[in-house]
Amino acid sequence: MERPISEAYFQEAGRHIPGGVSSPVRAFKAVGGTPPYLVRGEGAYVWDVDGNRYLDYVLSWGPLILGHAHPRVLARVREVMEGGLTFGAPHPLEVALAKKVKAAYPGVELVRFVSSGTEATMSALRLARGYTGRDLIVKFRGNYHGHADGLLVEAGSGALTLGVPSSAGVPEAYARLTLVLEYNDAEGLREVLRRRGEEIAAIIFEPVVGNAGVLVPTEDFLKALHEAREFGVLLIADEVMTGFRLAFGGATELFGLKPDLVTLGKVLGGGLPAAAYGGRREVMERVAPLGPVYQAGTLSGNPLAMASGLATLEILEADPGLYAHLEAVGARLEAGLREVLTRKGVPHTINRVGSMLTVFFTEGPVRTFAEARRTDTELFKRFFHGLLSRGVYWPPSNFEAAFLSTAHGEEEVARTLEALEGAL
Ligand SMILES: *Cc1c(COP(=O)(O)O)cnc(C)c1O
Repeated sequence: MERPISEAYFQEAGRHIPGGVSSPVRAFKAVGGTPPYLVRGEGAYVWDVDGNRYLDYVLSWGPLILGHAHPRVLARVREVMEGGLTFGAPHPLEVALAKKVKAAYPGVELVRFVSSGTEATMSALRLARGYTGRDLIVKFRGNYHGHADGLLVEAGSGALTLGVPSSAGVPEAYARLTLVLEYNDAEGLREVLRRRGEEIAAIIFEPVVGNAGVLVPTEDFLKALHEAREFGVLLIADEVMTGFRLAFGGATELFGLKPDLVTLGKVLGGGLPAAAYGGRREVMERVAPLGPVYQAGTLSGNPLAMASGLATLEILEADPGLYAHLEAVGARLEAGLREVLTRKGVPHTINRVGSMLTVFFTEGPVRTFAEARRTDTELFKRFFHGLLSRGVYWPPSNFEAAFLSTAHGEEEVARTLEALEGAL
């Protein structure tokens, strides 16, 4: 598979854009080689400028749960677009989308729209601090909550992929306000709550981690998180990745969580920039203009983003069979990958929840960030390029989740397993 045009673009991009990319993981640093320039998508497939077709497991890093270019989503955006792109004024579609979010998350009484997951988590933390009058926050090693200062401490996703889990440029004073604990370490969390619970404004966590590769929470860990409430600590479920993906009501519905605040993004915007934070009325009423916690955005609640999000959520809400489909195809893919890897004698652990999956190249179990880092990243490189050269586009880092869309089915699973056989 040749990509001369993509390569030329990437060379040129490097002269104008740092690393040639608008977001670090896209540069293929962790796997080597150069990225295809993608110009078209349809369903489970994407095409690069060179005319190559790939089966896509990146799906724009999560938003495209219905696959690329879903006709009903595009039609809705087109229709709204005819009326203009943005007004910076209230718009009927943001009311409709807010009602959808509340239908999915019964604990959310008020919701504020922003444009990225980073903004959502940053704003939720400011709100938690404003509400509690406390400064400390707790996060977990390898969890990624966007690139706001104070959250880029031992973070996952691209930060982890590039080996800079804690960014330069984050003042020591900010980092000191972030306590970092091990994911799934319920006792460690309880200990910190006992010692410093009264100083902690909020705990932010990924209810299923996707940004260290997929990590699944233990029941006891989820229980310990909820015990934080006894110390007046707000619990923030960062569902930017899992919201509307693991179920219509995300991980909150799947595990019966009771967070004080939820952050959403990715699927919420259906492929355009929309994200949100929401929760109990009493807390959310502290947000400006009702309260003293300031947060704003020129393009927040953008009509096109509201339209693509709304169209996406309407389709998901109307057909619960779509989640059953994602689970069934996910299970088939997991079983197939396991069968091939086992038969070929490749040590592996597959973590999956619904349509999020990671193959770690290590004997399991993989429940913590430390265990995730045991994966054989050299073997992953060969796995990745073996698949890519056979037309299967897996995320270009072992510390990212592969995603399924409702457009992925038996045929796509078979194609993937065939590519894997060839690669191995
Ligand atoms: C992607 C992600 C974010 C950041 O969202 P952006 O839109 O990239 O800023 C935050 N939290 C989680 C859990 C994510 O997966």
